Amino acid sequence: MDWKNKRVAVIGCARSGIAAAKKLKELGAIPFLSEFRPQDDCKDALSTLSQINYECGGHSNKLLDNELIIVSPGVPLDIPILVAAREKQIPVWSELEFGYQLTKGTSSKIIAVTGSNGKSTTVSLIYHILKESGIKALLAGNIGLPFTSFPIEKGMYDYIVLEVSSFQLDTIQDFKPDIAVLLNITLDHLNRYHTLDAYKTSKLRIFENQTGQDRALLNFDDPECRIITNRIEAQKYWYSIEEKVNDLVWFDGDKIYIETKKNTIEISRNELQIRGLHNVSNAVVSSLAALLCDVKPKHILAALKTFTGLEHRLEWVAEIDGKIFINDSKATNCVSVEKALSSFDRPINLIMGGSDKHEDFSSLIPLMIEHVRNLIILGETQKQIYETFENNVKSHKVADLEEAVRLGNDLAQSGEYVLLSPGCASYDMYNNFEERGRHFKEIVKNLQ
Ligand code: ADP
Repeated sequence: MDWKNKRVAVIGCARSGIAAAKKLKELGAIPFLSEFRPQDDCKDALSTLSQINYECGGHSNKLLDNELIIVSPGVPLDIPILVAAREKQIPVWSELEFGYQLTKGTSSKIIAVTGSNGKSTTVSLIYHILKESGIKALLAGNIGLPFTSFPIEKGMYDYIVLEVSSFQLDTIQDFKPDIAVLLNITLDHLNRYHTLDAYKTSKLRIFENQTGQDRALLNFDDPECRIITNRIEAQKYWYSIEEKVNDLVWFDGDKIYIETKKNTIEISRNELQIRGLHNVSNAVVSSLAALLCDVKPKHILAALKTFTGLEHRLEWVAEIDGKIFINDSKATNCVSVEKALSSFDRPINLIMGGSDKHEDFSSLIPLMIEHVRNLIILGETQKQIYETFENNVKSHKVADLEEAVRLGNDLAQSGEYVLLSPGCASYDMYNNFEERGRHFKEIVKNLQ
């Protein structure tokens, strides 16, 4: 596509919007950035731009003078200006689609991963395996830096590994990954998608433009993945940690096996540094993806052993008087708390609560009874969580994270865990889950 002098509007001046506007400028296009928030709220981002026109405090009809609109993932697609744009048949793309269009003529291959849980871990692990095997890979998308902030149009990467959210998939047009991975589908983002079907439809768009030469990797263990009825043109590869559903990579409850041309090689679950069965599943699908990129099985096994996992996901923080403190601040929904509770075989003193995503926590009752000695609750969802579990587990209300950690430390016995796995977003008290996790670690460090 010739971008020279193309008039393109970008809605939203968060990271991906800024990256898209800068890339457009670099390509000789004429970007126009439009932001709903007042100028004062985004002056830091705007100060990084030069010679790019913008408006703040709302979206004017100037947007409709453009040939294309690139929309940031957080922007609702039913705002009046986007309705008007569609009426005028102005294409509306995500930054993901824009990035894809730039890589289209290059030799870079794309591996895209979506799902409700495990995306960041899986893309990081795939990237780690590729990189450790000497492949020139890029990790981008929802993780780290935006896709279009890299020189992707130059074709300098063998593989681009992308973490893709359903919000970005909502506004794709041609986006076609060579390898697309769907990890799982559990109801999340109820505020944007009103039904599981709408959310699922959005996630499945990752396969929409694939052809017979491409690969689709699907989780056989996830009930929603298993009942996909949409037509997928790509070659399908199921994976599972419960049974052997392909002849390439599988798990028998203890070891991961990878089939080579000559024999089968294996790695014990204990040799992984990431905890929990959910992470075994992430390791299996990452190995499968790497194998399909022709990485040698022995290189895959070596890289699996050296992957240490990501910050804020079941992250070991400290051991104090035999009590182990774990930061799982990224656990912002019930499924994640479920995975965390199933990952430990000794009693847990669990810190939960945060901002309200309208989840029903009662599915956690059996695991609470089995694993949790004390439940320490804070935040906007405090009352709801307390009422859900008070009859099942010893529950304590606290005012803030500081009090929660101190109480966890007082209540835990040697050999037990103090686990922050909130099951809620962080916005009631923090800017994001990273800030909450860092605060948790700081409080724990101060206990020492
Ligand atoms: P995402 O980027 O999709 O939010 P992460 O890799 O950051 O996923 O992991 C977030 C949380 O999701 C983890 O802390 C863990 O509780 C849970 N999780 C990770 N992998 C899986 C998986 N394969 N299935 C279900 N839950 C998972």
